[in-house]
Amino acid sequence: MITISNIAAGIKPSLTRKLFDMAKGYDDVVDFTLGDPDLPPHTAIKAAGCRAIEEGRTRYSQNAGLLDLRNTISTYYNSKEALLYDAQKEIIVTVGAMEGLYLSLLTILNPGDEVIIPAPYWINYTQMVSMCHAVPIIVDSDEDDLTVSVDSIKRVVTSKTKAIIINTPNNPTGIVMSQDILAGIADLAITYNFAVIADEVYKTLMYDQPAFKSIAHFPGMRERTILINSFSKEFCMTGWRIGYVLAPEIVIAAMTRMQENVVACAPLPSQYAAIEALKNADVYSETMRTEFRKRRDVLYDGIQRIDLLSCRQPDATFYLMVNIKKTGFDSESFAYRLLQDVQVAVVPGITYGKICEGYVRLAFTLSIERIREGIIRLDKFIQNLQR
Ligand code: PLP
Repeated sequence: MITISNIAAGIKPSLTRKLFDMAKGYDDVVDFTLGDPDLPPHTAIKAAGCRAIEEGRTRYSQNAGLLDLRNTISTYYNSKEALLYDAQKEIIVTVGAMEGLYLSLLTILNPGDEVIIPAPYWINYTQMVSMCHAVPIIVDSDEDDLTVSVDSIKRVVTSKTKAIIINTPNNPTGIVMSQDILAGIADLAITYNFAVIADEVYKTLMYDQPAFKSIAHFPGMRERTILINSFSKEFCMTGWRIGYVLAPEIVIAAMTRMQENVVACAPLPSQYAAIEALKNADVYSETMRTEFRKRRDVLYDGIQRIDLLSCRQPDATFYLMVNIKKTGFDSESFAYRLLQDVQVAVVPGITYGKICEGYVRLAFTLSIERIREGIIRLDKFIQNLQR
């Protein structure tokens, strides 16, 4: 008889997936659940991947990824963000940001170590930390504006604190952390000697703000920051499963040894496609940003007009949190009723921490026409509640 480990038994499927799966049971659903854009990658990116397959460039690469790709990532970071990382020693190409995050945690955590995770958070963080036999420590944000304060982070720092995971721009709120908060977190990290894992997968999807500036820029931070990035969101390449990590040599060397044992390397055709993506990143990601901005505006406008619902305009990402507190429903019941009554699928806020009870998350990763249809149905749902 096979028995499963305590760790495996403790990992629960997320409500995001549950709602997504339930939505599949209906014929005509407006599905706002997954952060999986409907847009294809640019034709040239697809062509680069196809060419690699046709020309037989389909074998294993170096564990850390093609040097050509790592060089391209290095050049891209240097030119876009003025951050210099050595392609040979400080960059690894991973199977999406997810594997990058998981290997980073495995690389730095010992059993019982604590990892601070500000809420609202992406559920995978807590589960990944648990999968490393470490302890996720959740810090709640301000209830009204869903932003975290440096003081509340400081209150949970202990001698076991090994790292903090920050996600800016944030899934699910679309909020970009201010430079003041980043400076405060940097101070804490230096004072109490912990690492910062910075998940920056949405940094090119900022709509109204000045250019993104990473926490790695603060003095003394480059050597204690692990930067996580991905091609999934910036270039709409979720299924290509390709991401990367930039970090000090000691971390990348350890991650590369781990990578050899779990996946060997990221898929090779995806690596060739990724080189193309970064070579013309400005053009490709601008196309995505322009489209998502339009969608955000349509969704935000529509939600504002519906009685009992309210929302803050997201600064970035393709997520919008809708405040449903006035409906009297908790977020899970709201999501089930909405799906049942008008076939609109959303993610209950509770998925992202207790602080998000009273919210649901909508991903605007579907066409404007479908977003408009979703708004009409939401409105109808609310009107029926009021009868
Ligand atoms: N980080 C955040 C904050 C995400 O929201 C997601 C996907 O939803 C990921 C990482 C995963 O990215 P990837 O597809 O590169 O594994």
